[in-house]
Amino acid sequence: MTSCYAVHEAPVRRVAIFGGTHGNELSGIFLVKHWQENGAEIQRTGLEVRPFITNPRAVKKCTRYIDCDLNRVFDSDNLGMQVMEDIPYEVRRAQEINRVFGPKDSDDAYDLIFDLHNTTSNMGGTLILENSRNNFTIQMFHYIKNALAPDCCPVFLIEHPNLQYATTRSIAKHPVGKEFPPCTIEVYKIMEKVDYPRNKNDEITAVIHPSLQDQDWQPLNNGDPIFLTIDGETITYEGDSTVYPTFVNEAAYYEKKQAFVKTVKVKLTAKGIRSSLS
Ligand SMILES: [Zn+2]
Repeated sequence: MTSCYAVHEAPVRRVAIFGGTHGNELSGIFLVKHWQENGAEIQRTGLEVRPFITNPRAVKKCTRYIDCDLNRVFDSDNLGMQVMEDIPYEVRRAQEINRVFGPKDSDDAYDLIFDLHNTTSNMGGTLILENSRNNFTIQMFHYIKNALAPDCCPVFLIEHPNLQYATTRSIAKHPVGKEFPPCTIEVYKIMEKVDYPRNKNDEITAVIHPSLQDQDWQPLNNGDPIFLTIDGETITYEGDSTVYPTFVNEAAYYEKKQAFVKTVKVKLTAKGIRSSLS
């Protein structure tokens, strides 16, 4: 069959599955340890699939991190930082991970990394997408969404000029081994982080409004309640257009001054792809 629409890609050879990037998010930790004991479930012919615990010290303490957030330090400054005694544990660890699974942006990097996380928000199973122009990942997310249907699997697009961060999984590159026709998926694109209302001492003065709590991915319109102050006053959303909040009341984000994230619905289209070997 000819397929003039298909983009040719080198086949995927090496895949990693990370757990414990945040040491208190237990699903990925349990799964990775399970697969390290018995990997039959994740092995595929022609593929090397490697389960890996990324932040073992934080896993041992069941804490998000030891010195700093591992999932924010895979940028060139931190990866290139000279190793000295007082370098944060997670920066040292990021450099080790980059040596094994990267180097980031090089031909030697793993093709694909699945980094498994948990949230305290009511987001359900969610895929996080970093790049709106990568045919491979859009195709893969389209495949996963279809495989899970009728269950819903929202895609959160975190591509943003100043809100994007240097994640652990970003050291991989992304090709494929089979032919997929062009496809379109709906994603929730990050627009803005919203902090809690605070007093002049920077202390939080309101909680997430009960009508917003657990309503991740649901439409939020002008005038809808978002916060409830300690005095019982409702604070409403003011905006011209519908947004879709997510990461609502995520416990790990109090330190990041984030009550929820505003997203908008966007459609992404990927070209057809096939392996250069097919
Ligand atoms: Zn996490």
